[in-house]
Amino acid sequence: MIHDVAIIGAGMAGASLAAELAPHARVLLIEAEDAPGYHSTGRSAAFWEETYGGPGVVPLTLASGGYLDDHGFLTPRGALFIGRAGDRAAMDAHVATFAGTGVITHRLSPAELAAKVPHIRPEWSEALHQPACADIDVAGLHQHYLGAARRHGVTTACRARVSGLVRKGGAWTITTERGEAWRAATIVNAAGAWVDTIAQIAGVRPIGITPLRRTVAVLRVEPQAPADLPLVLDINGGFYFKPDAGRLWLSPHDEIPSDPCDAAPEELDVAIAIDRFQQVTDWRIAAVERRWAGLRSFAPDRLPVYGFDASAEGFFWFAGQGGFGIQTAPAAARLGAQLLLGQGRDAMTARIDPAMFSPQRFQPARHAQTV
Ligand SMILES: Cc1cc2nc3c(=O)[nH]c(=O)nc-3n(C[C@H](O)[C@H](O)[C@H](O)COP(=O)(O)OP(=O)(O)OC[C@H]3O[C@@H](n4cnc5c(N)ncnc54)[C@H](O)[C@@H]3O)c2cc1C
Repeated sequence: MIHDVAIIGAGMAGASLAAELAPHARVLLIEAEDAPGYHSTGRSAAFWEETYGGPGVVPLTLASGGYLDDHGFLTPRGALFIGRAGDRAAMDAHVATFAGTGVITHRLSPAELAAKVPHIRPEWSEALHQPACADIDVAGLHQHYLGAARRHGVTTACRARVSGLVRKGGAWTITTERGEAWRAATIVNAAGAWVDTIAQIAGVRPIGITPLRRTVAVLRVEPQAPADLPLVLDINGGFYFKPDAGRLWLSPHDEIPSDPCDAAPEELDVAIAIDRFQQVTDWRIAAVERRWAGLRSFAPDRLPVYGFDASAEGFFWFAGQGGFGIQTAPAAARLGAQLLLGQGRDAMTARIDPAMFSPQRFQPARHAQTV
C-alpha cells in the first residue's frame, strides 16, 4: 500500500497535521520514541501569549485561540511584561510593534503591578498587561489530535526512527533503523529539532533550522505563589515565571544552540534563572523541586516553515515552530493541510498569509505541488 502522506514526528506538529489531513487522505504517522510527545511538546511552559514569537506569528496565534478555547484547552491567566524605569522605551516599542495586530495591551501603574505580583521589588515599576493570555492544556490538546487522527484511520508507528528516505517512481520509500519500510507519495518533515537531519536523509537541502535549549525550574517559594498570579515576563527577555499547582515555573529565557538531542538542564542556567528572579521579587525560595530543558527550533528568520520544498518532489516542511508551536498548532495544522491538499483557506486561516511561512523564502520556486 502506498500512503498518501507519511508524517515524520508525532509531537504537536505532526499529530495536529495528521488529524487535519486524516478525513481526506491515507496518513501514516511515524515517531522515533516509545510514545509521541517526549521531546519539545512534552516540555513546554504551556501558555498562549498573543505576542510570543513576534508580529509575524500573531496571526497564527490569534487564529488558533478560538479553536483552543472552544475545545476547552485554555484557562485564563493574563500576562504582564515588566520592567524598570529605564525600560520605558522598551515598553513603548513593545506596544508599537503590536499596534494594529489585534493584540490587547494595557499599561499598569506601579501600584496596579504590585497588586498583581506580590513580593515584587519596588524598582520594577513598569508593566504592560495582556489580559487574553491563557494556560494551555498541552497534553490534552496533543491527545485530542492523536485521538482524532486515530478515529479517522491514521496508523501511528512508534519506536520507528526514520533512517532512509528514497524517492523513486513517484513515491518515497521510508525505512527505519529497525528495518520497517513504508511507501508514501508525500512525506511531511515534522521532526522538530531533527528537521534538517531528515532533509539530509532525503537528500534535500537543509534550511538551517537551529535547535535552541530552553530551561524551566520548578520552585517552591514561601509564602506560596498565588494561583491567580499572571505569567510575568521581562520586557528585555531575561526571564518569565508563572504559578502551577502551588509552585512557580521559572525560566531564564535561555536560547543555547544545541545539536538535536534529548535536552537536559544545566545547573548554570538554573542558577541564572534564580539570580534573575531574586532581583525581581523578595520571595523566599524554599526549594528547586524539579527542572527540565527542551529544544525550540527556529528557521533563520524565526518564522515557521510550512510548505512543499521547491526542489524535492513530495517533500513538505512543517518545521521551525520555535517557542510557539503549541499556541499556534490549530491554525498551523489547518493551514498545513490546506497547502498539502491544494485547498483554499477557510474561516480559521483566512487572515494568514501562507507566503510568509513558505520554505520557498529560502529557496527559489520551481513548481506548485499538492498531494
Ligand atoms: C521550555 C519550553 C517552553 C515552551 N513553551 C511554550 C509555550 O508556552 N507555548 C508554546 O506554544 N510553545 C512553547 N514551546 C515550544 C513548543 O513546545 C514547540 O514549538 C513544539 O512542541 C514543537 O512541536 P514539534 O512537534 O515540532 O516538535 P517535537 O515535540 O519535538 O516533536 C518532534 C518529534 O519528531 C520525532 N523525530 C525526530 N526525528 C525522527 C526520526 N528520524 N524518525 C521519526 N521521528 C523522529 C521526535 O522523536 C519528536 O517526537 C516551548 C518549548 C520549550 C522547550
